[in-house]
Amino acid sequence: MANMSLKKNEMPSQAPDIRNKNFSEVALGYTEEQAIDEAKRCLNCKNKPCVGGCPVNIYIPDFIARVAQGDFEGAYEIISKSSSLPAVCGRVCPQETQCESKCVRGIKGEPVAIGRLERFVAD
Ligand code: SF4
Repeated sequence: MANMSLKKNEMPSQAPDIRNKNFSEVALGYTEEQAIDEAKRCLNCKNKPCVGGCPVNIYIPDFIARVAQGDFEGAYEIISKSSSLPAVCGRVCPQETQCESKCVRGIKGEPVAIGRLERFVAD
C-alpha cells in the first residue's frame, strides 16, 4: 500500500553539538526502514516524469520499487545500468531541480526523496 505522507522521510544527521567536533559527513543516510517507507511514497506513475528529469535517465520508479520490496541489490543493478557514480550523485546532484522537480508527489506535498534513496542504495 502506498505511503501517502505529504512529507519526505527526514534525513538523519549529526546533532550540531556533535558535528562541530568532527569532520565526518553531517547527513547520515536513511536506515533500511526509512528507505522502504520513503520508497512506498512512489506511485509508479504511468508517464514517469521523474525519469525525464534525470540527466542520465535512471529508471527511477523501477529502482524505487525494488527498494520498497527490500531488494536493495536489485535496486543497485537497475541504477548501475545508467550511472556508475550513484553514491556521488545521490549526495551532490541538484535533485530539487532535476528528477524531484518532476515528481508527481511534489504537486501536493514534497516529492519522493529520489536522491536520498539513490544514496541509500549505493551505500
Ligand atoms: S514521478 Fe515521483 S511518484 Fe511518479 S514514478 Fe517518479 S518518483 Fe514515483
